[in-house]
Amino acid sequence: MFSTLEKAIAVGINHVETARSYGNSESYLGQAFQGGIKREDLHLTTKLLPKGNAKDIDQWIDESLERLNTNYLDMLAIHGVNTWEHLEWVLDDSAAAGMAGIDQAIADGRINHLGFSSHGSLELLLEVINSDRFEFVNLHYGYFLQRNEPAIALADEKDMGVFIISPADKGGQLYAPPPKLMELCHPLTPLEWGYRFLLADPRITTLSVGSSKPSELAMVANIDDGKSLNFQERKVLDALDQEALKISPSEQYVQYYDCLPCPEDVAIPEILRLKNLADTYGMEDYAKYRYGMLENAGHWFPGRRGDRCNSCGNCVSKFPEKADIPSMLRDAHSRFGETFGRRLWDD
Ligand code: SF4
Repeated sequence: MFSTLEKAIAVGINHVETARSYGNSESYLGQAFQGGIKREDLHLTTKLLPKGNAKDIDQWIDESLERLNTNYLDMLAIHGVNTWEHLEWVLDDSAAAGMAGIDQAIADGRINHLGFSSHGSLELLLEVINSDRFEFVNLHYGYFLQRNEPAIALADEKDMGVFIISPADKGGQLYAPPPKLMELCHPLTPLEWGYRFLLADPRITTLSVGSSKPSELAMVANIDDGKSLNFQERKVLDALDQEALKISPSEQYVQYYDCLPCPEDVAIPEILRLKNLADTYGMEDYAKYRYGMLENAGHWFPGRRGDRCNSCGNCVSKFPEKADIPSMLRDAHSRFGETFGRRLWDD
C-alpha cells in the first residue's frame, strides 16, 4: 500500500478516500502517514454510516482519527444515504441526534467539510442535496450510467463538490473491456475514455481510481483532468452514441423509470440498462457482474432479479411504447443470472 500511495502522489493524485467500514483501510493509511507519506500531501476523506446518536458519532470520529494517525479530516462523508430512513436520520436536528455530533466535530476543527455518498434513487439523491446539509456528494455516474445527471446538475447549481464513485469498476468494468468496446474507443482505451468523459465535465470535481498496486497508476499520469473533450475524444463519444442507435428499436429498451414501482420489486430499469450494454457494446461480463449483485447487496444495490417477474403487466402499460418487458426480463435472467455477487464489506 505504501508504494501505491507514493506512486499515486507522484502521478498527481492528492485525495484518498476511506471509510470506517472498509476493514483495516483506515489503519493502513495511518501507518502510511507514520511511515513517511506526508499528511499534508493528501486530502483525506473518511466515511461513517448514517446511524447512531451524537455520542456515538463523536466517539467514531475520534476512533477514525486515531486509526488514521491524524487530528483532522479534510472531509467526512455520511456513508450510504441510500434510503428515506437514512435521510430522516440526516434531518433529525435534535440535540442528541447523530448529525449534532458531526456539527460539533466541525465546530471544534476535527472535520473541515461534510458530504454524503449515496447508492439510492435519483429522487432520494435530489432530496438529500436539497437538504442543504452537505458540501459535496459522492455518487455513481459515467457514460454507461447517466441516470444521476440531474443530481450532478443540482449539486453544481449549489456549488457542491461532486465525487464519482468507482467509474472504472461499477461504471463498466472498464479495466477489462470486451473487444467491441475497445474497438469503439480506439485509440483511447475504454478506461481512459471513461475517465476523460468525467473529467472533461466541469461540474465534476474528482473521481476514484481504485488501484491496488503502483503499476495500475501509470496511465493516470497521462489523463488530462481539466479540458473539455478534444477532437479524438468527441469521435469516440460519437462512435459510442451511434452504436447504440444501431440496435433495433424492438431490442433497445428505454430505461423508463416511471414504470416503477413493480409489485415484485424487480429492478426493471437497471436490468434494461445491463441488457442494452451487453447487446450494444458486448459488455456481457459487466452485465453478469452487476446482475449478480441484485438481491445480494441490500440497499447498496436495490431491487430484485428478473425471474421474480410474475407477468402482471403493470410496468408494460406504463411504458411509452409497447414493449414485452416480462419476456425481456426472462431473457436477461437466463443470460446474466448464473452467479450471485458479494459486497466486499458489511455495514
Ligand atoms: S410485469 Fe413483471 S416486472 Fe412488470 S410490474 Fe409486473 S411483476 Fe414487475
